[in-house]
Amino acid sequence: MAKSDIEIAQEAEEHSLPIAEVAKKIGLTEDQLIPYGYDKAKIDINALKDKPAKGKLILVTAINPTPAGEGKTTTSVGLADSLWAIGKPTTLCLREPSLGPVFGVKGGAAGGGMAQVIPMEDINLHFTGDFHAIGAANNLCAAMLDNHIKQGNALGIDPRRIVWKRVVDMNDRQLRNVVDGLGGVADGMPRQDGFDITVASEVMACFCLATDLMDLKARLSRMVIAYTYDRKPVTVADIHAEGAMTALLKDAIKPNLVQTLEGNPAIVHGGPFANIAHGCNSVQATLTGLRQTEYTVTEAGFGADLGAEKFVDIKCRALGVQPSAVVLVATVRALKYNGGVPKAELTNENLDALEKGIPNLLRHVSNIKNVWGLPVVVAINAFPTDTEAELKFVEDKCKELGVNVVLSEVWAKGSKGGKALAEEVVRLCEQPSEMHYTYELEGSIADKINAIATKIYHADGVDFTPSASKQLKQLEDLGYGNLPICMAKTQYSFTDDQHKLGAPEGFRITVRNVKVSAGAGFIVALTGDIMTMPGLPKVPAAEKIDVTPEGKIVGLF
Ligand code: ADP
Ligand code: MG
Repeated sequence: MAKSDIEIAQEAEEHSLPIAEVAKKIGLTEDQLIPYGYDKAKIDINALKDKPAKGKLILVTAINPTPAGEGKTTTSVGLADSLWAIGKPTTLCLREPSLGPVFGVKGGAAGGGMAQVIPMEDINLHFTGDFHAIGAANNLCAAMLDNHIKQGNALGIDPRRIVWKRVVDMNDRQLRNVVDGLGGVADGMPRQDGFDITVASEVMACFCLATDLMDLKARLSRMVIAYTYDRKPVTVADIHAEGAMTALLKDAIKPNLVQTLEGNPAIVHGGPFANIAHGCNSVQATLTGLRQTEYTVTEAGFGADLGAEKFVDIKCRALGVQPSAVVLVATVRALKYNGGVPKAELTNENLDALEKGIPNLLRHVSNIKNVWGLPVVVAINAFPTDTEAELKFVEDKCKELGVNVVLSEVWAKGSKGGKALAEEVVRLCEQPSEMHYTYELEGSIADKINAIATKIYHADGVDFTPSASKQLKQLEDLGYGNLPICMAKTQYSFTDDQHKLGAPEGFRITVRNVKVSAGAGFIVALTGDIMTMPGLPKVPAAEKIDVTPEGKIVGLF
């Protein structure tokens, strides 16, 4: 039987490199590291901050996925190892996994097969404690907010208009809606409340976009946490929480260095949601890569309609850089899914469905090339269940349609399966390109949402519900009109209906809610109810996770 991800990872961990040796590969000296044991370290970004960020950035994104994920992380890891294998020093940058999905359906998020980052168990469980620090900073703000109300409410905060929630890094639907502050006069002000998962917090989004510690503090201080009885926004600065919150985050903000199965450097840092936030690893991580190595490989969450769009319009704007090449991951199963095959039948050979799914891929390729002006290669992430005929069909079809395509076998073979992809990425990076944003920041919020919907989703237009229109006007009146947009939409479709697969035409997008994340620095446009506190499935992955008397973790995947 094939080895599981954790078995492969644990075997590699037995002969992994000491972290200082991994650091040396990207020009980091021991005094620039804060070691967390043998194989993990934080990087002292202060020591690097005056270095120019001159490396080339490579974005890994995907076609519209199946619910199982299409292997963006796996491809990112494999591509980084493959670049090293052809002699190109590379930093891999990934998001940190959240405990929610680890114990829920998805399992770990450190790649798969022969393309993983290690120590896999640590990375998937507490790692260096960043998410706990983010949760603590978030909850300190909540405690200070409720305390302000209890101590006389000098700001006139309307307890019904508190928009700040406490967080915990767990899929725990029981906490989604709660009433707290119960007891008596000494116990607080009773109010309806709720929890979010830590990765959905705005602190996480600020953490990932901050260009340094003081920028983080400035972002935290701008966050809107409530509204007053006369509807004025109350910020973190109004309750004087930003200093202590930043103090809690001063170590967490330093990026974490680990290694791939092949001993190459990987920075795993930050992990915001990809719907109500922008879904990319921290700016600190990406900047470190761009400063230290010729190439930096990074992943954006969900499909390219959400992930790559936010990467371009939010993260690249904040970073002041553009990717030199984009890798669009496609799988046979996702193409079949987009071609209308139900989830349970995805392992059966079906060339007809493959052909029907190709328009999804074509639309993403065209967006990347023609809207953003970026060089792109499609990486077909080969699964053991794919048939020869299917893989050949996709490759031939892409070539016939003029799409730049490479087969990637990094899951099965590590860097040996990714040489062609690495070589093509290097070639693309040599091509001059000039990135265009989907929209400019000037212009109304509605115009910007409209630009995303028409240019990227290929919708006919956008409808705003009456309450969304009202919110839109309020946000512009409050001076938030010039922020970029963060679309919260289903990841499964170009439309706002997850059942419309492929490359749908003749549809409109409905925006139901618009809110500001003033610290993160974007307007969130919600097309439906977005779950910010997930629940566990009937049989959670946690039921299979265990630990031996020697302290070895088993059952994590
Ligand atoms: P994404 O980052 O797009 O969500 P991941 O790289 O995390 O996707 O992969 C999702 C799951 O699929 C993981 O469990 C991973 O091990 C598995 N996987 C990815 N690529 C392959 C492949 N080529 N063959 C088999 N399993 C794969
Ligand atoms: Mg991933």
